[in-house]
Amino acid sequence: MPEQHLVAVIGAGPAGIYGARKLAEAGHRVVLFNRDVKPGGLAEYGIFVEKEKMKTGLRKQFKKILANPKVFYLGHVTIGQNQPVTLEDLKAKGFGAIVVTAGAQGTKKLGIEGEDTIGVYHAKDVVYHYNSLPPFSQRTFEIGRRVAIVGMGNVMVDIANWLLNLKKIDQVVVVARRGPLEKAYDDSEFESIEAYLDNADMKKEIARIAPQLTAVGQDVDEIIRKFVKQGEPAEGRRLTFRYLCSPTKVIANEQGRVAALEAEENEMILQDGRTVAKGTGKMQRIDVDCLIYAIGDQVDAELGLPFSRGAFVTNPEKLPADPHPAAYQPYDPQAKKNLDGVFVAGWSRNASVGLVGVAKQDAERGMKVVNEYLAGKPGLSSGQMEERIEALIEMLNEKGAAAVTKEDVELLESAEQEEARARKTWDFKYLSNEKMLEVIAARKAAR
Ligand SMILES: Cc1cc2nc3c(=O)[nH]c(=O)nc-3n(C[C@H](O)[C@H](O)[C@H](O)COP(=O)(O)OP(=O)(O)OC[C@H]3O[C@@H](n4cnc5c(N)ncnc54)[C@H](O)[C@@H]3O)c2cc1C
Repeated sequence: MPEQHLVAVIGAGPAGIYGARKLAEAGHRVVLFNRDVKPGGLAEYGIFVEKEKMKTGLRKQFKKILANPKVFYLGHVTIGQNQPVTLEDLKAKGFGAIVVTAGAQGTKKLGIEGEDTIGVYHAKDVVYHYNSLPPFSQRTFEIGRRVAIVGMGNVMVDIANWLLNLKKIDQVVVVARRGPLEKAYDDSEFESIEAYLDNADMKKEIARIAPQLTAVGQDVDEIIRKFVKQGEPAEGRRLTFRYLCSPTKVIANEQGRVAALEAEENEMILQDGRTVAKGTGKMQRIDVDCLIYAIGDQVDAELGLPFSRGAFVTNPEKLPADPHPAAYQPYDPQAKKNLDGVFVAGWSRNASVGLVGVAKQDAERGMKVVNEYLAGKPGLSSGQMEERIEALIEMLNEKGAAAVTKEDVELLESAEQEEARARKTWDFKYLSNEKMLEVIAARKAAR
C-alpha cells in the first residue's frame, strides 16, 4: 500500500477537479479550496450561457468526482496574499503538497491612453457577469449600442454572441492586429454570429487591406471566397471587422464615456514564416460607445507565487521534454530553485490556453508529477489526516471564512433547480454570495 498524503488543491475549475480525481485515485486525501461558492470555474462561469448540453455534462462529471469521500471541498475560500488565508498559512498546515489550479484571474491591459474611461471592460469580467458569477453579476456594465471587441479568438465570438443575440445591440466591430487568416476563433463557434456579418462591409475591408495581404503572399481572392458570404445582416444588427489595426487611444465624450477608439493601421511582415503586425503611423477612428478587451488573461499576481510577465515563474532553463515535470513547479528566481512541494496546472500554468479538455489533460499530467513526488515521502495515518483537517477547519473558523462544503453546494443546487423549473428555464443562479449562503442556511435549518 503506497503512503497516503494530505494534498491542498487551490481552485475547483476543471484542472482542480480532474486533478483531485487523479490524486484521490493514488490514495491521497484532497482538500479542494475554491474562491467561488460553487465548483466548476470557467466551465460554470465562462462557457457560454446557452451551451446547456456541455454545461450540464460537465456539472455531472464534477459532481461525481466531488462525491468521492477522499475529496473535501471548501468553497467560498480565497487563498492569497491579501486574503484571510494565505499560501503560507496552508504551508504551515502540514500538507504533503500544494497544487495551484486557480486559473488565470488577472486581467491584461494594452496600456493605452484612456483605458480607464467608463465603458472599457475586460472580456473575463463581462463573461463572469453574463454567467452570473458574484460580484460581477451584481455590477452594471455600460454596454451601449455599438461595441468594439479587441481580439479575434473564441472569447470574442462568445461576447459578440451575447451582445448580438441576447443584448440585441446594433453593432459589434471586431478590431484585430492582423488579417482574416490570422483569426484564432473556430469556424464552428463563429456560426453563432455569422448571420449578423455585414458582407458588403467585409468585402470593402478586405479590399482596403488587400495590398498588405498580398505583400505577405496571401491570396486575396481566396480570402474573399472564405470570408465574404451572401446576404444582409440579420435583423439589422451588424458584425463588422477592422483588420490590421492596433488600438492606441480611447477617446471619451464630455460625460467621460467611450466615444471612439483610435487605432494605428498596420502592415504585415513575415518573421520565421509567421505574419507579424507592424505599425504604419496612420491612424483610424472607430466610433463606438463601449470597448471590450478579449486579448487573454494573466495569472493572479497576488496568489503568493513568484510572478513575472503575467505568469507564475517556472524553471527558466530549456527543459528537454515538453511538458517536463519541472514545468509544473513554481520556481524561486532569487534562490534559483523550485518551490518544494508546490505545483501548478491548468490555466494557472498556461494562462488562457485551450478548452476544458486541455486543462484536464494538463492537470492529469501535473498530478502524475505530484504523485511521483509524494511517493518518496513518508505518509500520514488516517488519524493524523483527520487531526490536520480539524486544525484547518479551526483556522478557517478563527479567520471568519464562511466555507461551503459539497453538501452545502448540493442544497444550493437543489434550490436553484427548483427555481429554474418554476421559471421554466434550464438554469437559474442566485446572483450574490450572500444570497447563496442564505439559501444554504435556510435549507439546512429546514432539514
Ligand atoms: C469565455 C470563455 C468561454 C469558454 N468556452 C469554452 C467552451 O465552450 N468549451 C470548452 O471546452 N472550454 C471553454 N473555455 C475554456 C475553459 O473554460 C478552460 O479551459 C478551463 O475552464 C480552464 O480550467 P482551469 O481549472 O485551469 O481554470 P478555471 O476554470 O478558471 O478555474 C479556476 C478556479 O479557481 C478558483 N480560484 C481562483 N483564484 C482562487 C484563489 N485565489 N483561491 C481559491 N480558488 C481560486 C476559481 O474560483 C475557479 O473555480 C472557455 C473559456 C472562456 C474564458
